[in-house]
Amino acid sequence: MHAVRLNAPEQLEYCSIPVPVPGDMEVVCRVESVAICGTDPHIIHGEFPNFWPKAFPLIPGHEWAGVVETVGESAAALGWKKGDRVCGISHVGCGHCAMCMQGRYTLCDNYGHEEFGHRQYGHYSQGAYAEYMRSNVKAIARIPEDMDFNVASCMDPLSIALHMVMRSRIQPGDDVLINGSGGQGLMAILCARSLGAGKIMVSGSGFRLEVAQQFGAIPINYRDEDVVAKVKELTGGKGAKRVIECAGTAVGIRQAIDSVAKGGVVSMVSLPGGDIPVPIRRIVLEEIELVGNRANPNTLEKAISLAAQYPAEMQRLITHEFPLSEYVKAFDIFNGRKDNSLKVIMKPQL
Ligand SMILES: [Zn+2]
Ligand SMILES: [Zn+2]
Repeated sequence: MHAVRLNAPEQLEYCSIPVPVPGDMEVVCRVESVAICGTDPHIIHGEFPNFWPKAFPLIPGHEWAGVVETVGESAAALGWKKGDRVCGISHVGCGHCAMCMQGRYTLCDNYGHEEFGHRQYGHYSQGAYAEYMRSNVKAIARIPEDMDFNVASCMDPLSIALHMVMRSRIQPGDDVLINGSGGQGLMAILCARSLGAGKIMVSGSGFRLEVAQQFGAIPINYRDEDVVAKVKELTGGKGAKRVIECAGTAVGIRQAIDSVAKGGVVSMVSLPGGDIPVPIRRIVLEEIELVGNRANPNTLEKAISLAAQYPAEMQRLITHEFPLSEYVKAFDIFNGRKDNSLKVIMKPQL
């Protein structure tokens, strides 16, 4: 099969390798769509040495959807069969450690140990930039007949946005600031809407901020407005009770914290380049909570249901599609945010 393989940092190769064979609890799927994730360029640049990946070569890619082709024995006993339409996520917990036993399998104590059953596809385990993808059944879910594969490949990031928004402990009517109007920010709008948010304010700029507005958010252009002042103005001076931080810069994170109301929650997903100072005095005296979120524990099936409520918005997020062989062009458009790109999909079967 054809695959895009990372042989060393920055060394991607479109190559031909054997089709994988499923293990006992695994399926091998024909990959119909694989979306480029914001994390992928960082992995490709080699920014996480000896971690993502632990060793080369690695097939990146973890936002994928396709059709089950071959099924391991126990996976078949659980009801998985050839022809099932599915989508995947990256994390598979070991299933035995204390964190997995609490359902917090993205924090698995055996992270990185494939010998104990842990996987993170496209990060250190082999991923989906290929014609076929081998996955444990814990990391896939069935998709509705009428969900197309491009949308289905976005269920991984949508389920991350959902985890992040749920972890803000949003209540119906709460005003929310979503800081950042990239893919995660736009998906977070849909999650906040479905959880009954009051005002949804989004800080961003350009084309992406226009999409945020089309999704029902109040746009705040950080290039020509003071985000904190604007949020205060829109919330009667209080600030947003829930802040969803998807900007990932030092300035953006500070802005997120400064925009939250007393007793509020800042729920974060971005990975800034390093540690940054935060206003601890205010965090203590105003009981502000900063919540980190790692990926999407147990939110994949919820995200699939949620996406069905927003078919037009989900389609709007997908701006480009390329055969897998044109991955160089696809990355250029995605990384450069060229041509008003949001989710860029590669099609291994074309
Ligand atoms: Zn991703
Ligand atoms: Zn575990």
